Amino acid sequence: MRVLITGAAGFLGSHLTDRFLAEGHRVVGLDNFVTGHPDNIAHLAGDDRFSFVQHDISTYTSIDGPLDGVLHLASPASPIDYLELPIQTLKVGSLGTHNALGVAKAKGARFFIASTSEVYGDPLVHPQTEEYWGNVNPVGPRGVYDEAKRFAEAITMAYHTYHGLDTRIVRIFNTYGPRMRPRDGRVVSNFIVQALTGEPLTIYGDGSQTRSFCYVSDEVEGIYRLFMHGDHRPTNIGNPDEYTVRQLAELVVELTGTSSPIVSEPLPEDDPKVRKPDITRARTMLGWEPTVHVRDGLARTIEYFRPYVGTPMMARRAPRPRPSTATSRAS
Ligand code: NAD
Ligand code: UDP
Repeated sequence: MRVLITGAAGFLGSHLTDRFLAEGHRVVGLDNFVTGHPDNIAHLAGDDRFSFVQHDISTYTSIDGPLDGVLHLASPASPIDYLELPIQTLKVGSLGTHNALGVAKAKGARFFIASTSEVYGDPLVHPQTEEYWGNVNPVGPRGVYDEAKRFAEAITMAYHTYHGLDTRIVRIFNTYGPRMRPRDGRVVSNFIVQALTGEPLTIYGDGSQTRSFCYVSDEVEGIYRLFMHGDHRPTNIGNPDEYTVRQLAELVVELTGTSSPIVSEPLPEDDPKVRKPDITRARTMLGWEPTVHVRDGLARTIEYFRPYVGTPMMARRAPRPRPSTATSRAS
């Protein structure tokens, strides 16, 4: 296969690119580096099955040559990123998805959209099944992300229904692992970086809110199987092991052996109180379930972050990495 992966220089997109290449496929990666980094794909520079386009998918997009798949992962994903980039987030979920669908339709390719557990908002059904329609505040701060993804799902279904496009919708639940940006603001990277640098671990609110954390290799396996063997229905891919944020902080303290204290900071507006996927559909349709326990996944992620201690990437309030054209080349 030859597939286009948007957001290929990001955390998940770069791992998914590696997976497609490992299976013998060819990948065209596309990214504008708004939250990703060239380092995430630097190891692919000599691989002639990989080509890269530096481009904003929210603008008109044309890709040379045949494509069998278009996987649209481009979007800011960390709450602090999408709060800093509200318009870009809305555009990449709406215009970007439309453009990526247009490429897929023109090439006769299968289309795959990376949606999110955020479409369930602050859920009133727990755990969340794909049938649940969600509880989203469209005008709250998280609305820029949640509504962009809800639109992305809706237009994907419209292309499926009206144009007969072969489509997939994955609802990704909190995923973590190597290649997260150290200061991207998400809870796993925050706690690990804080623990390794001796800063206090910042629990927002009382820490009783829950999340269910999926290690990146499990997530990529689920995504790959859904792309290859799934159907058009939205499918949750996440780890159903549920933790409070306080339990996560305590686990990171234990695994790093840090003497950092745990402190409380104000809870952001509309922060979902609970989150846990029902993965019955993925289990039955794909034979998929996560295999990496959060203890092991956290230990691997801690080892990934450790060498960055003392480097500018770990600096407090480090600016987002800026694009370097060093690894870019036209497809
Ligand atoms: P990330 O920020 O590491 O990666 C996103 C990538 O998209 C970055 O490389 C960024 O530069 C690129 N990008 C953003 N806007 C773009 C645009 N307009 N044009 C081209 N490239 C653009 O985030 P991630 O965690 O890898 O998330 C990947 C996808 O998975 C996102 O769509 C996100 O919404 C979804 N998702 C992730 C999680 C998670 O826990 N990681 C959870 C739910 C959904
Ligand atoms: N959180 C926290 N401390 C941090 C960062 C996040 O307590 O330093 C909390 C946040 O309020 C939320 C949970 O951890 O309840 C997960 O936050 P994250 O930003 O990773 O993603 P979300 O699941 O909210 O999209």
